[in-house]
Amino acid sequence: MKAVLIPGDGIGPEIAQSVKDITTAMHLDIEWLEYRAGAEYASETGKVFEPGLVEAIQEYKWALKGPTATPIGTGFRSVNVALRQKFATYANVRPIRSFKGIASKYENIDLVMIRENTEDLYKGIEYKINDNMANGIKLITREASEKICRYAFEYAKMNNRHKVTAIHKANIMKYTDGLFLEAFRDVAKCYPEIETQEIIVDNMCMQLVLRPETFDVLVAPNLYGDIVSDLCAGLVGGLGFAPSGNIGDEYRIYEAVHGSAPDIAGQNIANPSALLLAFALMLEDLGNMKAANQLREALAKVVEKQETVTPDIGGHASTTEFVQAIINEL
Ligand code: NAD
Repeated sequence: MKAVLIPGDGIGPEIAQSVKDITTAMHLDIEWLEYRAGAEYASETGKVFEPGLVEAIQEYKWALKGPTATPIGTGFRSVNVALRQKFATYANVRPIRSFKGIASKYENIDLVMIRENTEDLYKGIEYKINDNMANGIKLITREASEKICRYAFEYAKMNNRHKVTAIHKANIMKYTDGLFLEAFRDVAKCYPEIETQEIIVDNMCMQLVLRPETFDVLVAPNLYGDIVSDLCAGLVGGLGFAPSGNIGDEYRIYEAVHGSAPDIAGQNIANPSALLLAFALMLEDLGNMKAANQLREALAKVVEKQETVTPDIGGHASTTEFVQAIINEL
C-alpha cells in the first residue's frame, strides 16, 4: 500500500527516518510518499504544505506525521489543526499505557483519551475587538458531540472496555458544554452495558493524579481533551512515549504527541519512540496486529534494557543506534 509521510520540522526528519528504517527491516508492504509541511518549509517557500500533499492524503487516506512547529501569536495556523479540519479527522485517540523501563509515578496505567478534534475553541473563530480586547468563540455542535461520544462508546465496546467518562465544565458553560453533555447522555442510552461517568474538568485533573486506575475510556471536547491528554501522558512518564491517531470516516493521520524539539534538532539524539508507537497504532488499525505488537515489544525490550537509548531517557545512544537496537530485537 501507499501512505503519506510528513517528516515535519526540527527533529521530525530524524525520527521519520526511523519509521522508514523499521518499515524496511520488517519488510512491511508500505511505500511512503514523502511531503514537506510546517514552519521550515513555509520559511523557504512561503507555503505551509508542499504541493501535492493534500491530494496524496485524499488519494491514499493513511498518513503518518512528524511534529510541525507553529508560530505563537502570529503567522500561519497550526498544520495539525488545518489537517484535522481539512480531512475531518474528528476523533483524536491517545492510548496511555505504562511503559516498562520508563520511570513514572504509576505502573500499569491503561487509559484511552478520545478527544473531539474539529471544533470548540480550536475552531479558530477569534478576532481582535481593539488593541486591548480580543474574542474567541467556543463552538460546540450536537452533531460533532454525538459523533465523538458514539466513537468513544464504540471504541469501548470493540476493545472490551467497561467505562466511558465524559469530561466537561457544564456547570459554568451551560450552553456549550451543556450541549456536549446532553449528547453524551443521549448516546450512552444506546450502550446500557457500558458504565458511564461525568466529571467536571478541574476535578478530573485531580482524580487522574490521585486515582488514575479508576478510569478507562475518557471522552472530551477539544480544549479539555488537549490539556487532559498531556496530563495523562505525564502519568506514564511524559510525552516521549505518547502516540496519537486522528481518525475520520475516510482519512487517518497518525502522529507523535510531542513537538519539533528545536533545542535538539539536527543532533541525532531525538527519541523516535513516540512516532514509532504512532506507526504501531497505524499498523494496528490497518489490521496488522502482529507487526504492531512486534514493533511495540521490540521497542519495550530496548527501553527496558536501557543500554541503547537516547539521552532524554537517561541513555547515551544516538537516534540511529536506538533504532538499530530495535531492529536487532525484531
Ligand atoms: P516539544 O515537545 O517540541 O519540546 C519540549 C521538550 O521535550 C524539549 O526539551 C524537547 O527537546 C523535548 N522533546 C520533545 N520531543 C522529544 C523527543 N522525541 N526526543 C527527545 N526529547 C524530546 O514542545 P515545545 O518546545 O513546546 O514545542 C516546539 C514546537 O513544536 C512548537 O513550534 C510547537 O508549536 C510544536 N508542536 C508541534 C506538535 C505537533 O506537531 N504535533 C505538538 C506540540 C508542539
